[in-house]
Amino acid sequence: METATAELIDGRLIASEVRQEVKASVDAWTAKGNRAPVLKVVLIGDDPASASYVRGKNRACAEAGIESETMTYDADLSEAALLEIIDDLNTDEGVDGILVQLPLPKHINEDRILRAISPAKDVDCFHPENVGNLVAGVPGLQPATPAGIMEMLKRSGIETRGRTAVVIGRSNIVGKPMANLLVQRGIDATVTVCHSRTPDLPGVCRGADILVAAIGRAGFVTADMVKPGAAVIDVGINRVEDASRKRGYRLVGDVDFEAVSEVAGHITPVPGGVGPMTIAMLLKNTLFAATGSWT
Ligand code: NAP
Repeated sequence: METATAELIDGRLIASEVRQEVKASVDAWTAKGNRAPVLKVVLIGDDPASASYVRGKNRACAEAGIESETMTYDADLSEAALLEIIDDLNTDEGVDGILVQLPLPKHINEDRILRAISPAKDVDCFHPENVGNLVAGVPGLQPATPAGIMEMLKRSGIETRGRTAVVIGRSNIVGKPMANLLVQRGIDATVTVCHSRTPDLPGVCRGADILVAAIGRAGFVTADMVKPGAAVIDVGINRVEDASRKRGYRLVGDVDFEAVSEVAGHITPVPGGVGPMTIAMLLKNTLFAATGSWT
């Protein structure tokens, strides 16, 4: 039997286009005599994964002409001290974007910290004011991962208007904002959000022209859950043991990539799919926070 192979959506390539565009905009901004955009990243504790994400963000900023500085603190930093640090950054006119790397140590209330960041400098778009604007369709900062997915769909020529989209996952970081972006006027998808309490999840997924998986479970989306020709966007990042790798594991998504590739029309790989887009959109948000413009 002949099998179709899905077209790969190359997140690295699209992200590098976005990053070059941001760099061109930053260059144009500074050529007019403005200072370069400045991002401050607050990193608390010594979690190696967080430190590695932050290094990636700093590298990407430097390449785009954005000045970024990581402010590192011990894991026992008090919540009051962190609130003071954020307050200083909020009022510092030399700072355009503030990013507090998550997760935070247990003794710090994450919600209180994210609400303390000035909405205008909230490049992660976690502040309720920015979340509200997103839901209301008011242009402004957008959460990096879902915004990156929208950019991938657009640049891959995937039609959203009048199509059915299913998002698996209802987190505040991915699932909920993703659904809100897909349902906006002009994007015009008809959206269903699924979670762990959804009955007949495979059946719901089979109705999707666009299927976004943001679950955190390796290989959760199997070929029988995918409508032939659908665009499948894999947000998941999961470690699976792999003795053949030096580090003892490899990263896989939430989608059974091999099998789903034979059914889907488009698919994103992991790694090299949504991940690189997230950093590219952080740069775009920092550009917007500094200049008030996306271009
Ligand atoms: P999360 O907060 O843990 O949310 C996971 C969602 O999946 C929840 O809504 C949960 O439902 C749902 N879920 C879990 N098990 C399920 C099941 N058996 N059936 C149906 N739904 C189920 O995770 P997240 O922060 O959204 O992240 C999701 C994945 O994306 C993770 O692998 C994460 O590492 C990755 N991620 C990647 C990027 C990137 O840049 N590529 C960015 C962010 C996150 P309930 O609400 O009912 O529990």
